[in-house]
Amino acid sequence: AYPVYGRIDGPIVIIGFGSIGKGTWPLIERHFDYDADKLTVIEPDAGQHNFLRQHRLNFVDTALTPENYREVLGGLLEPGRGFCVNLSVDVSSLDLIRFCRELGVPYIDTVVEPWAGYYFNTTDNAARTNYALRQAMRDEKAANPGGATAVSCCGANPGMVSWFVKEALLTLARDTGSAVAVPVDRTGWAALMQSLGVKGVHIAERDTQARRVPRPRGVFVNTWSVEGFIAEGFQPAELGWGTHEPWFPENGYRHATGCEAAIWLDRPGAITRVHSWCPTPGPQFGFLVTHNEAISIADYYTVGQGPMPAYRPTCHYAYHPCDDAVLSLHEMFGSGRAQDKHHILTEDEIVEGIDELGVLLYGHAKNALWYGSRLSNDEARDLAPYQNATGLQVTSAVLAGMVWALENPQAGIVEADEMDHARCLQVQRPYLGPVEAHYTDWTPLQDRWELFPEDIDPEEPWAFRNVLAS
Ligand code: NAD
Repeated sequence: AYPVYGRIDGPIVIIGFGSIGKGTWPLIERHFDYDADKLTVIEPDAGQHNFLRQHRLNFVDTALTPENYREVLGGLLEPGRGFCVNLSVDVSSLDLIRFCRELGVPYIDTVVEPWAGYYFNTTDNAARTNYALRQAMRDEKAANPGGATAVSCCGANPGMVSWFVKEALLTLARDTGSAVAVPVDRTGWAALMQSLGVKGVHIAERDTQARRVPRPRGVFVNTWSVEGFIAEGFQPAELGWGTHEPWFPENGYRHATGCEAAIWLDRPGAITRVHSWCPTPGPQFGFLVTHNEAISIADYYTVGQGPMPAYRPTCHYAYHPCDDAVLSLHEMFGSGRAQDKHHILTEDEIVEGIDELGVLLYGHAKNALWYGSRLSNDEARDLAPYQNATGLQVTSAVLAGMVWALENPQAGIVEADEMDHARCLQVQRPYLGPVEAHYTDWTPLQDRWELFPEDIDPEEPWAFRNVLAS
């Protein structure tokens, strides 16, 4: 029997029924008690409507816009109860959070998403960063502390990986013989990371899921939102900028306002390669695609403030998507235009592979520790319907975030770093397949191409200068 984590009284609204919305619904159905006739999906894509009809799900065939969202959501939600689960693209997380908190309705999403157009309608790259999107959310939190809980960015990454960082720190503390009282607040966690000598964190991911047929030319293939991946791939590369860095990239920029924990590079993230490490491949290239967690984790673990604090880890994504997505990126950047045809690999057509998603904590006494989930598509199919391994890592984090929100209804706006990681992982873990810790003696200075000169720093193996591929 599956645990039922509580009752949700009143309307549940799921916005977006793409790969993540469709996979989240069966987990909500399985783990909460609610009135099925009070659940409504907002989904403008006709391609999803047959499924919704066949499963007798209420749906509204409308794309939310800045003009209509108050009316559409206002007609569905009821003050002080229910849940708003935002799993769409092109819908402003900030506007929805403001509205839900006015109503006192719990809210969750998996990304700080802007309204349509934001990612491409400006030539001001600093304004197109996740730093700007996240800082607006942090400013809203600071201006309106407390109140109804709104969980910001609670998917796999951003989301679950923030809970993995804490588990990895406790593992490292144990394995290095340090005292391990589990910290109770941000100050304690930051002090722990600093005392363990962690210089930085890669969100190190290798997706080996594949189908039998080769990718046709002209189709962007991925294991989750193609639209979402293209949008973030064209944003500037961004990373939390750590205090151990002896060098600053020529095309790097700091921010003059906000937490100042991150920098951005004047170059699209999805063609910026970094050297990283995952258990299955060992050393590998990842793409430095911008992500909220690169900034939130660097910010959360900062000791001190501003651009030059006493301590801060470097933090960024090092993403090797599925091979078809790598080819799709290659084709897209090479041709200078995004493919018109998009395809998200389904759990049924995938014939092999896993999504290996974890955090690589580096620069400490044991060199580097990868901690994460190695969920296969085969196992995902046994665990829950309508999603591949990538999807299940995300939707089970949404489930965990919803449980936490119901148990903490007046926590205000929170990010995954600010939630009880042990409780969240307790809820999520049955869906993650093998969750493992792996140490490695690999550093970015290893396995280089020795016949050619490279721009490296031999003194500081873990300098971002060495991580960044030339
Ligand atoms: P998807 O592209 O499969 O689905 C998005 C859905 O949103 C589509 O069905 C689309 O019709 C709908 N939509 C588009 N415009 C809308 C509008 N104006 N109003 C209402 N609905 C609208 O994407 P997905 O893979 O399901 O991902 C959903 C979201 O989750 C994306 O924002 C994505 O970036 C995010 N995500 C986060 C993580 C994470 O780990 N944090 C992982 C995967 C996806």
